[in-house]
Amino acid sequence: MAAQTNLQKDILVLNLEEQLMEIAKEMYGKELSALTDQETYYAVLILTKRLMAVSDCNEGEKKVYYISAEFLIGKLLSNNLINLGVYDKMSDILEKYGKKLSVIEEVEPEPSLGNGGLGRLAACFLDSIATLGLPGEGIGLNYHFGLFKQVFKDKLQTAEKNAWIEENSWLTKTDITYDVYFGKKKVTSRLYDIDVAGYDSGVNKLHLFDIESLDESLVKEGIQFDKEAIEKNLTLFLYPDDSDEAGNLLRIYQQYFMVSNAAQLILAEMKEKKFDLRKMYDHAVIQINDTHPTMIIPELIRILVEEKAFTIDEAIEVVRKTCAYTNHTILAEALEKWPLKYLEKVVPQLVPYIKELDKRVAAKYKDERVQIIDKDGRVHMARIDIHYGFSVNGVAAIHTQILEETELNAFYKIYPEKFNNKTNGITFRRWLLSCNRELAGFLAETIGDGFKKDADKLEKLLEFKDTPAVLDRIAEIKYDQKKKLAAYVKENEGVTLNPDSVFDIQVKRLHEYKRQQMNALYIIHKYLEIKKGKKPARPMTFIFGAKAAPAYIIAQDIIHLILVLQDIVNNDPDVSPYMTVLMVENYNVSYAERLIPACDISEQISLASKEASGTGNMKFMLNGAVTLGTSDGANVEIHELVGDDNIYIFGKDSETVIRHYEKADYVSKDYYEKSPVIKEAVDFIVGKQALAAGHKENLTRLYNELLNKDWFMTLLDLEDYIETKDRMFADYEDRAKWKKMMLVNIAKAGFFSSDRTIAEYNRDIWHLTKER
Ligand SMILES: *Cc1c(COP(=O)(O)O)cnc(C)c1O
Repeated sequence: MAAQTNLQKDILVLNLEEQLMEIAKEMYGKELSALTDQETYYAVLILTKRLMAVSDCNEGEKKVYYISAEFLIGKLLSNNLINLGVYDKMSDILEKYGKKLSVIEEVEPEPSLGNGGLGRLAACFLDSIATLGLPGEGIGLNYHFGLFKQVFKDKLQTAEKNAWIEENSWLTKTDITYDVYFGKKKVTSRLYDIDVAGYDSGVNKLHLFDIESLDESLVKEGIQFDKEAIEKNLTLFLYPDDSDEAGNLLRIYQQYFMVSNAAQLILAEMKEKKFDLRKMYDHAVIQINDTHPTMIIPELIRILVEEKAFTIDEAIEVVRKTCAYTNHTILAEALEKWPLKYLEKVVPQLVPYIKELDKRVAAKYKDERVQIIDKDGRVHMARIDIHYGFSVNGVAAIHTQILEETELNAFYKIYPEKFNNKTNGITFRRWLLSCNRELAGFLAETIGDGFKKDADKLEKLLEFKDTPAVLDRIAEIKYDQKKKLAAYVKENEGVTLNPDSVFDIQVKRLHEYKRQQMNALYIIHKYLEIKKGKKPARPMTFIFGAKAAPAYIIAQDIIHLILVLQDIVNNDPDVSPYMTVLMVENYNVSYAERLIPACDISEQISLASKEASGTGNMKFMLNGAVTLGTSDGANVEIHELVGDDNIYIFGKDSETVIRHYEKADYVSKDYYEKSPVIKEAVDFIVGKQALAAGHKENLTRLYNELLNKDWFMTLLDLEDYIETKDRMFADYEDRAKWKKMMLVNIAKAGFFSSDRTIAEYNRDIWHLTKER
């Protein structure tokens, strides 16, 4: 069977040109050369989907179901063509008919199914699972408007709906539908699939569930809609505003809808393959990505008891051996706790099971910190995962260590065997082969193309760390990528970037713990220095990209400050020759793919202990940027790999930070008063110039927050940050030294391939058997 489908794929590949011409005729009644870019995109899309449909499916006796509220997959055309091995061929064919593949790629809308690192990780994992030929599927929701689209108005972030589903898309409608019950209320789901092609391997599936009765017209202004009408709104948005009760309930509706569908899909497959349900764990492993899919545990237990004649003890044991949990954060506010009364409203059928799970824990353990339902009647979702799953993993070495020793220490004492680390990774297909074809091509010429499937082979590059021709070429590619980015930015943001300046980039979700505000304070400091006559050796370009959650007020204020600085700096003739500030609008995967290859300095400046891993840091490193970072998340492992000479680490370490929290002895005002440099920068936020360019309300609020609270300790590390960053800019002028740092970073990035991460998940948690 497998051989036959492979043959079908080979035949299709041989006839790519004929197929494409045929599709053009069928769809538009035109010759290929007469198609518009949009029509060409659709024709190539249809052909690529056909190629994936006849490719081998990765199958075996045991499969992983990766359940996640987010899959930040990015555009798919270029990646699918690369992974199917037909990118160059398709490019040549299009060229023959007067078209450029890179232009056609632009037409594709980016799917809006994720928010940040967690969703992007899920997407990288699907690529690697498929590439390693492992049986595995993603399960999530098909949000029509996804995460909001960010639009700046009057230097403030506004949110609009992000409609991404077109008539022709990567989604394939299936005839699979399920009934999902919220108590007595029934809705009907429908499954849509997106094929995930592995690199030079088989194809897997991303299953996205949708609701049949969705009503897109519910969305009137911005991202406002009637939150009560569940059957009409369920899959409109990812993470609807949860600042009121209706928003909280909607999130629970979404989560249960996701897991009810997942459970039905998994059990249907068990039945179809005639697997013994009592040994479900021999055929299925469910990876729970953060706590959003936690209800899969009580839901499966409920079904096994009520429909499959299991005793409750039997059901709990089977489910426990099937489910594994990944923790992504130690921020208390991000660990989900749903009031029991909300769960009673939305999913009354689950509540007796959750209470039973809680009762069993309470009978065995008295410690408050491990109870599932707390004294205030809130259900701690992560605690369900830890007690009733067989694996708990953190996502970087330091993060797992903090979980074990601090945050989840009470659980670690009970279940030391469940805890394990899986340092995150990124797929090199998207984050090198696709986004930086020039660099990937040069690396292949220099060290062979083994690194494309075996990332550790990148280390061969170290043999060239003193070879000027190789170092110069890497720097030249960086310069070309900066020019390309500058052209794109000019066109899309209207801002001129100087490719001869140093590109310093911080792109990631906006959060106080990530400390974009600290970067902004550095910019203020530089601005004031230049005003006083202290000019930098070379112009500097500071680039930001970040969306802020619509209900997160201070995060919006930080965006406002950056846009105010952009206005002040770029329009000041004394300063603009020496520095430029840019906040790009609507940062997403497509923008990341343009920014990352063009970066010199990678900003990874979270407060130590707060960033679980980060994956942006890995993408930048792989593309030859040098990291300016704290000892946090995967920065620690980057540091170990490249050594002190090839990274710039600053700031207080995680033990010191954790101690400050325990003692509650950090007082930001003390730092402000002690340091004239800090004071001057902070005061600028509410100075005449800033107030003239921005809004008093936002700037004052941010100023007060920094001075009176500063929960994420910006001022603690500010002086060290300024000193280290200044040193970094100075070192950039030692071009030979800098080029060597670029090379070492690229060469050492192999560890951060998600192929390595997935191989570890499989070795330690999943134990999948592949049959290819
Ligand atoms: C990689 C990525 C992230 C995660 O970035 P961090 O710096 O790890 O927070 C967020 N958004 C997009 C679009 C990404 O590609």
